Amino acid sequence: MRCDHCSNDVPDGVFCTRCGAHQGTTGEVANPKKRQSRYAAHPAEHVVQPAIFTTIFPHLGHSKIHEFRWAFAVGLAGILILYVAGLITAAILVAIFLVPVLYLIYLYEAQVYRDEPAVVLGFTIGGGALIGIVLTVIERIVYNPYPNIGNPLRGAGVSVGALLFLGLLWPIVQEVLKPLPALFLPNRGDFPETVDGLVFGIAAGLGFSLAESLVSFSTALTSLPAHITPGNWIYDLTTLAVFQPLLQGSTTGIIVAAVWRYRRGRLGRLEIGGVAAAVAAHIAFSLGTQLWKDALLSPLFILVWQAVVVGTVLVYIRYLLHHALLEEAAHMGYAETVCSNCHMHIVASGFCPNCGMALTAAPSAVKRARKPRAESPTKAKA
Ligand SMILES: [Zn+2]
Ligand SMILES: [Zn+2]
Repeated sequence: MRCDHCSNDVPDGVFCTRCGAHQGTTGEVANPKKRQSRYAAHPAEHVVQPAIFTTIFPHLGHSKIHEFRWAFAVGLAGILILYVAGLITAAILVAIFLVPVLYLIYLYEAQVYRDEPAVVLGFTIGGGALIGIVLTVIERIVYNPYPNIGNPLRGAGVSVGALLFLGLLWPIVQEVLKPLPALFLPNRGDFPETVDGLVFGIAAGLGFSLAESLVSFSTALTSLPAHITPGNWIYDLTTLAVFQPLLQGSTTGIIVAAVWRYRRGRLGRLEIGGVAAAVAAHIAFSLGTQLWKDALLSPLFILVWQAVVVGTVLVYIRYLLHHALLEEAAHMGYAETVCSNCHMHIVASGFCPNCGMALTAAPSAVKRARKPRAESPTKAKA
């Protein structure tokens, strides 16, 4: 059949395997790049949707995503139980490690690093962690942000200098330094796709977040008695387990993905805007958190603020990734493969003709098992 959008002869299917367009929708969606109701990494979802897992874990298929959601939920429940039991030190440790450990399992699961796990993990999570330790130690020497954490009276004194340092200068310094290890990955040529750059950036940001939180909370971790009354800790624990790692991971993810796009010869509004959005979001997160704490606003309000900032960054990542996947998948040759999203055996180019997933977002093992075929627009389903 002939695609309504790109006019290529393609195998029968609901989606065009060359350009990813949904067939029979010429009227509403003339340009396949505008198919915003079907996110290229997970076609069942809309692009503009602040989902965590289908955004920062883009290589996972449907069923795997559920396993990771469950693991995350179990981790959060564990933190809540430790908090209620007054085991705050243990709860802090679980909160700090939860998302980075899930990401490590994801990198293994999707084999994002292919044959070079040590180099890739060292330069992303390891490099990020190293920069995190150095920067946070410097930060603590210049200004200690957590003098009496868990104390409801903290932050009573407002200092403009501290506000500018922690809310403005420090986010910029972090965003400049965090992506460096991922950008200087020695074998980066083996990972040309933007989705790889995004994942490496997120990994570096999570390594940073892990180190930053451990250093920041080292005093609390070493000085708190094992068992105390839970108090206000639940708010800090939520930031520590959810919003802090998601912010640090996703901002660096955007910046590294934008540099990957630049290396592919693409530097447009989306990429420059991405770097600006990442820095702006980090400033909004840190400055907002600091300001609302100084103003003694309800800690619940601070969490809502952090959630809004993180949700916005996640949507930007989806938008950038969606665009990159649609563009990059269009250049793949025909091959026999299995769709990691809908599990159909397909003969396809860049997109699954059945569910519309961009096959550049398939796990590494699936991509490697592709059996190249001559450009034969035969039946899509085997
Ligand atoms: Zn097409
Ligand atoms: Zn599919």
